[in-house]
Amino acid sequence: AKAQGRNTYRFFTDAMSRAAQLHLNLERRLRRALEQRGFVLHYQPQIDIASGRMVGCEALLRWNDPEEGLIPPNRFIPFAEESGLIVPIGDWVLETACQQARKWLDAGLPPLLVAVNLSARQLWQADLPERIAAILKQTGLPPQSLELELTESMIMGHEAQAVERLGLLRSMGLRLAIDDFGTGYSSLSYLKNLPIEVLKIDQSFVRNIPQDRNDMEISAGIIALARKLNLKVLAEGVETPEQLAFLAEQGCDSYQGYLFSRPLPVEAFEKLLLR
Ligand code: C2E
Ligand code: CA
Ligand code: CA
Ligand code: CA
Repeated sequence: AKAQGRNTYRFFTDAMSRAAQLHLNLERRLRRALEQRGFVLHYQPQIDIASGRMVGCEALLRWNDPEEGLIPPNRFIPFAEESGLIVPIGDWVLETACQQARKWLDAGLPPLLVAVNLSARQLWQADLPERIAAILKQTGLPPQSLELELTESMIMGHEAQAVERLGLLRSMGLRLAIDDFGTGYSSLSYLKNLPIEVLKIDQSFVRNIPQDRNDMEISAGIIALARKLNLKVLAEGVETPEQLAFLAEQGCDSYQGYLFSRPLPVEAFEKLLLR
């Protein structure tokens, strides 16, 4: 039994050091990606339902690893958040998205809003407002062209600080959106105190329209709530004409999803813009 205990212990320490090794390795690779242009942004159109026009886009991060190819964000963002690397990575995302939006303006394209995902660490960084101000100044992008996407979970438990922080960002002229709305546990009372413009209905409520009556009720409810609170509402993950028709009928303002386009590399996105 003693020998077996030792083996179990060995097994755990080996597994632990393997995990630690993997993390060290991942950290090293992410740092290298930051230094050597290893990240790219893809852009997904946001469509105004009434006019059918593209009014904005969401910048979505990918890691272009020399060995593995394009790695989706869910595979490295949790680790980047844990390790704090999300802060320099997030700065790169903000800067790149703002530069890109500025280029489109300079090319004479109709003004597009660009939406960027923020992580909790970034939101609560003491100097986030200064960092963003510096990026806007350096790129010359009007603040109204930049939308920051936050989730309910980033705010929960810090509602008072959130009102202050978001108020400051709002006063700079930025637009604020609540991402994945409906999946957090936020009380509705906090919503009315936050200076936000947009609720993004999480794709989990859109996916099973029209098969799932409950999801239809939830989506309709979020749209009604947004309208009552004078917020814009965008549906995510719209894949079928039926889903779009239902959301339009409920009064949803805009949508994103494969029905119109997947997130695209910048060249392909520009082709869509010029079409
Ligand atoms: P999210 O912000 O909720 O982004 C929406 C995700 O849904 C994207 O996945 C997008 O490609 C996908 N999607 C869009 N339309 C459809 C559709 O019609 N059907 C389906 N099934 N999926 C659709 P992606 O690009 O893999 O991003 C995953 C998550 O990673 C994002 O979820 C966001 O939370 C995070 N993320 C992405 N970029 C960044 C970033 O720059 N910073 C931070 N902090 N997080 C990011
Ligand atoms: Ca998002
Ligand atoms: Ca989302
Ligand atoms: Ca999400």
